Amino acid sequence: MIPAAFDYVRVESVDDAIAKLSSNEDAKLLAGGHSLLPAMKLRLARPSVLIDIGRLQDLSYVREDGDRIAIGALTRHHDVATSEALRSGCPIVADAASSIGDPQVRHVGTIGGSVAHGDPAGDMPSVLLALEATMVARGPNGEREIPATGFFTSLFETALEPNEVLTEIRVPKATEGWSFLKFRRRAIDWALVGVAAIRSNGGARIGLTNMGLTPLRATGVEEALSGGADPASAAERADEGTAPPSDAFGSDEYRRHLVKVLVRRALEEAMA
Ligand code: FAD
Repeated sequence: MIPAAFDYVRVESVDDAIAKLSSNEDAKLLAGGHSLLPAMKLRLARPSVLIDIGRLQDLSYVREDGDRIAIGALTRHHDVATSEALRSGCPIVADAASSIGDPQVRHVGTIGGSVAHGDPAGDMPSVLLALEATMVARGPNGEREIPATGFFTSLFETALEPNEVLTEIRVPKATEGWSFLKFRRRAIDWALVGVAAIRSNGGARIGLTNMGLTPLRATGVEEALSGGADPASAAERADEGTAPPSDAFGSDEYRRHLVKVLVRRALEEAMA
């Protein structure tokens, strides 16, 4: 429960963070520390240097930008959950943020940390997949946009380069036809399985939490809906292409059953 030795440096700008990342091969950014520090205590992560970006206030915002909403990577879950712009323009993001952990976690953890950590059990990644959000990363060669659909590459791995900082997440406005369902045993628990559904072109886009090594899209269900299937029969394909974990909270078989039930309920809510 004691992390390996590390150096600590606090930076005052994104450029400074990029420079420090570029000159320290196994450095890690520290945002809220609510995923990284537990991993370090278990020695699953052993960065030699922690680069603290947690006080970069200019990366903490929610702004309307035409038909999209831009969210700074260092925006705390609480500020995402209570943002008026998100509540009225993209309520699924605010709703998912309000379900993360407990108030203490929500006041310290950041949306950028949730996304960059690439945890398949995280709530926000599957919501961003269903929304087809865009991640904005800045590195030594400037800024680039990464679609959410290509962002989560493997277990705790993302398309971010080691010397890039995730600066912003852009979500489309989506006010009608959405559902976010998180099945957990106690109010503060992580999702056993989570489902995010966004109505789209007569069908729906569906993101799944905790059903594989990465957050996933329920492509079988999406295909069935665009072929004219009703929500109940489309939901029967919810576990296609998934590889859910078996752990102390539920078996693979249980999660496969659960995801079909949750997808059906989410579709009924989103398509109503
Ligand atoms: P950190 O822990 O600081 O960083 C996580 C990783 O992302 C690190 O590798 C770091 O280097 C990298 N990183 C951070 N910011 C950036 C950036 N801007 N650019 C590039 N890389 C970056 N999450 C849920 O989704 N649902 C839950 O129900 C939930 N419950 C929780 C309960 C507890 C008790 C705790 C401790 C955590 C819980 N979490 C949950 C996780 C929480 O949401 C974390 O805040 C989040 O996963 C990570 O955000 P952070 O700001 O703390 O990131």
